[in-house]
Amino acid sequence: MTAPDHPILLCHDCGAPHALPPALPGHRAECHRCGAVLRHFRTGGLGHAVALAIASTILFVTANLFPILTFELEGRAQTATLLSGSVALWDGGYEVLGVLVFFVLFLAPLAQVLGTLYVVMPLAAGRTAAPGAAWTFRTVARLRRWAMAEVFLLGLIVAYVKLSDLAELEPGASLAALVAFILVQVWGEASLSPFEVWERIAPQTRVAQAGNADPERLTACHDCRQVVAGSEGACPRCGARLHHRKPNSLPRGWALISAATILYIPANLLPIMTVVYFGAGQPDTILSGVEALIAAEMWPVALLVFFASITVPVLKLIGLAYLLWTVQRGSPKRQRDRTRLYRLIEGVGRWSMVDIFMISLLAALVQLGAIATIHAELGAVAFAAVVIITMLASESFDPRLIWDAPHHQAKRQDSSHD
Ligand SMILES: [Zn+2]
Ligand SMILES: [Zn+2]
Repeated sequence: MTAPDHPILLCHDCGAPHALPPALPGHRAECHRCGAVLRHFRTGGLGHAVALAIASTILFVTANLFPILTFELEGRAQTATLLSGSVALWDGGYEVLGVLVFFVLFLAPLAQVLGTLYVVMPLAAGRTAAPGAAWTFRTVARLRRWAMAEVFLLGLIVAYVKLSDLAELEPGASLAALVAFILVQVWGEASLSPFEVWERIAPQTRVAQAGNADPERLTACHDCRQVVAGSEGACPRCGARLHHRKPNSLPRGWALISAATILYIPANLLPIMTVVYFGAGQPDTILSGVEALIAAEMWPVALLVFFASITVPVLKLIGLAYLLWTVQRGSPKRQRDRTRLYRLIEGVGRWSMVDIFMISLLAALVQLGAIATIHAELGAVAFAAVVIITMLASESFDPRLIWDAPHHQAKRQDSSHD
């Protein structure tokens, strides 16, 4: 067999080949085998996406200019901005957590909006792609999962509920800007088709130009989905390193899952923060935090924290171990369900950061000297590590391994090493 001489796509979730679907506004092509969305051209066009990216940028700046919450107790007030939590963690001796919160709450979202603007603006105006557009757009897509403004908002709600018992809380002007930023971001993502952007940066090239290769040896770029004959070198469109399958998916997955499982123990046994109220200090673990919420009859928030901090990490670890184990055995069963499980794990992982954001806000707001202080504890570092490591584990897993026929396993694992 020789490679087809018309442009094709390989499904990013199962590897099935498809003829390139037409680039029609509103056209949505799904994989017949696993149900993944192959290409979806939005009707709004790139001009729409530019307007929303500009609005996002303005809202993000506004969200950082003013206080987000003000906390009042015994006649003393403390305000927090979006970044106060990061600073409070750093000042409290947990620099790693401070840097992590700064990255996911400030750097990643900012890079996302500015990167999108940089790439899409010239394209929407009908000009050629800006210098470095491919690298920028690839980086923007990779940063998406690490930009966590919406998770922070949930953490803020939890912090608000926890503190509302204790003192007066007043939302600041930046809170409205943050909510608007999140909504416009969601809208912007729904109106921008990455496929369209890649097509405008450089159209999908014909595979046959690279020579007549065995279709088994075709490789789809992980980032821009350009299909290339062979599996070596860099993607001709976006410059990413090509791999037939993600390299060392199984050993890397097992190593990361083991590390996260071990860290899950101190994350739950050690206190994640200490609340000192009129001189009396009390350390809080994740579970005792949930118990306190239940005791205060704040059921919805208690359930939310229990789900995000305790259930999700455990289910992620079990789910990933199940995926790795079935792939290793070359199981041909329930491939579609396992692909869905993978997508679920991918989507839900970042929401476990809720507790970390809550702690960062509490540490920023409750700094009232002898009256009340809250600071982070070592358990929070272990817990953040569990969340990050499981996110890396699901990122390193290649769902196409689920679909590779058992007798191809050895061969494909081989080719991922070249
Ligand atoms: Zn598929
Ligand atoms: Zn590429």
